[in-house]
Amino acid sequence: MRLEINTAQASESFLRQQRFVNDVSHELRTPLTIIRGYIDLLESYGASDPELFKEAVSSIKNSAQNMQNLVESLLFLARAEQGRQPLTKVPVDLDELLKKFVEAYHSPRIKLSKLPPCKILADADFIKKMFSAFVDNALRYSTPDTPVKIELTVSGDAAILKFIDKGIGIAKDDAEKIFDRFYRTDKARTKLSDKENSVGLGLSVAKWIADRHNIKISVKSKLGEGSTFALTIPTITI
Ligand code: ADP
Repeated sequence: MRLEINTAQASESFLRQQRFVNDVSHELRTPLTIIRGYIDLLESYGASDPELFKEAVSSIKNSAQNMQNLVESLLFLARAEQGRQPLTKVPVDLDELLKKFVEAYHSPRIKLSKLPPCKILADADFIKKMFSAFVDNALRYSTPDTPVKIELTVSGDAAILKFIDKGIGIAKDDAEKIFDRFYRTDKARTKLSDKENSVGLGLSVAKWIADRHNIKISVKSKLGEGSTFALTIPTITI
């Protein structure tokens, strides 16, 4: 048996792996530092300071949640890469699904347009996971006094679904990279506190789900004015 090693490919894969370990370690460092810091404080003053105790528990809980989200997204992407993320596609009423999806958010900020009836072939759980990535971002990268609009229209054999916010926006150079794993814009980093869940994997997961459903994603955005993520979803007739 002859084993041929393509050195260029091997070093590329090594570099990718190194970058990945670097990114994950970096993302885990902040929540772990917060947990360590609060545990030290609790050890010293926790028993005598109920306010500190409350703050520490809430921050530790938040950091643990951040780490859990990170691990879950990583596992999702790993399974997806290994072809171990099976989808069960069935005819789904997109308008009905959207209505229930928005109701479950319980957010008065989300404004849903009039919904034309339309059917798609999809795995509803995956589709909801993808929608969550866009809605979570729209809510977190805009201020609480602004609405997040969701608009559905049907054109020919496609549904056009838009997630529209009036938030911080995305620079042109960044727009190409936001679907890359762990990519976050500087503006997003400064807007969010450590308490908020953001690891830069939501859109990578969304893109994988979109690709599996032949859904095209386009982004229109202006810094300081807001962003629109438009999905073109193939419809079916039954
Ligand atoms: P994150 O968990 O950081 O939100 P995502 O993969 O969902 O990760 O998004 C990647 C990056 O894209 C974000 O960190 C942010 O910089 C940018 N982004 C995504 N959606 C929006 C939006 N609606 N408005 C402004 N920036 C956005």
